[in-house]
Amino acid sequence: MTTTPSPRIYLDHAATTPVEPSVLEVMLPFLQGQFGNPSSLHFWGREARKALQAARDSVAKTLHCQPSEIIFTSGATEANNLALVGVAEVLKAKGRHIITTQIEHAAVQAPCQWLEAHGWEVTWLPVDSEGFVSVASVLEALRPDTVLVSIIHGNNEIGTLQDIQAIGEALKSRSGSQNALLHVDAVQTVGKLPLDLSTLPVDYLSLSGHKVYGPKGVGALFIRDGAPLPASQIRGGGQEADVRSGTENLAGIVGLAKALEIAQERMGADLPRLRTLQKGLIEVIRAAALEAVLNGPEDLNARVPGNVHFSFPGVEGEGMVLHLDLKGIAASSGSACHSAVIEPSRIVKALGKSDSLAKGTVRFSLGRGNTEADLQRVSEVLPAIYARLSLSGAEKSGIKS
Ligand SMILES: *Cc1c(COP(=O)(O)O)cnc(C)c1O
Repeated sequence: MTTTPSPRIYLDHAATTPVEPSVLEVMLPFLQGQFGNPSSLHFWGREARKALQAARDSVAKTLHCQPSEIIFTSGATEANNLALVGVAEVLKAKGRHIITTQIEHAAVQAPCQWLEAHGWEVTWLPVDSEGFVSVASVLEALRPDTVLVSIIHGNNEIGTLQDIQAIGEALKSRSGSQNALLHVDAVQTVGKLPLDLSTLPVDYLSLSGHKVYGPKGVGALFIRDGAPLPASQIRGGGQEADVRSGTENLAGIVGLAKALEIAQERMGADLPRLRTLQKGLIEVIRAAALEAVLNGPEDLNARVPGNVHFSFPGVEGEGMVLHLDLKGIAASSGSACHSAVIEPSRIVKALGKSDSLAKGTVRFSLGRGNTEADLQRVSEVLPAIYARLSLSGAEKSGIKS
């Protein structure tokens, strides 16, 4: 009998993170007295415009780019849509071929599918058993009509980090008609790993506020000076260099800038801490469930910091997430249940793994609030949950056969 409820443990930082208190503090004035519209001519407008410019300067400083290269959006879904559909549209006379991977976030996958349905051709690059895209496969896929390559930096599910530096350099080394532009979804790595846009050879890069202890509903698209401006996907007042109309979410933008500054300041301490917890959690899960299979790279340095992703054979990932939740542990599963049928994770399938492994996936993503005590708690509750679910899984398949 449990008498004292255990505290809840949040292990889903890849889904979203809490707003850092000092971020909330800098946002509040813009939801209160400093409510001006940055486009207005009067005092309130000027104050708002100054704050917007300061936030843009700050984001540019943390990412090592120019303020004019930052377009604020409603989040990374919008930034990705703008980069893909917007760039495809302005370059359609040049070519209608796009290259991406089989392990993109839905916010890249879905716009690419939309383009496919509207006259563009998309090459979906395969990945190896740990989720890596080879530079050679990118180059082989290039055609004279390729306009854009879009590759996720850190995979949100299995954590694989792609070598964007090498891919970007290889693309730039192709001259003449094959100068395809490079877009990167860096949502899972911005603020966690060093990022220097003055040396990283990318043309477009997407990021999101709520994955870096900032607010939800705000993000940005970096557009390198000289790269084509994407065609606006929202028609209206012409804000954000006429690329993204709509009154700016000033409180959100100010919060995003502060969150990125803090992440930059804390990186030296946060990164090794997260790596230690990540290594510890992998060991705890392997000890708790001997058959569990780690998805993504074995080499921790090639994973998104804090990402831990396992397949539990014979178990439904969603069931495990629900049982963990009953014990106060928040995790996530890439294998969603649609009308009582468990869909295998398309990302784990892309690694070449079986349906059984692709259905039994659970992602644990660590963050600033986690401690060693949280790992201890996982080691206490996981063995019983795993034993119970794998037993009922075996019974189910026994009935079927
Ligand atoms: C969360 C996430 C997104 C979407 O970001 P939003 O700001 O929630 O729209 C895109 N790509 C990746 C890799 C993500 O993890």
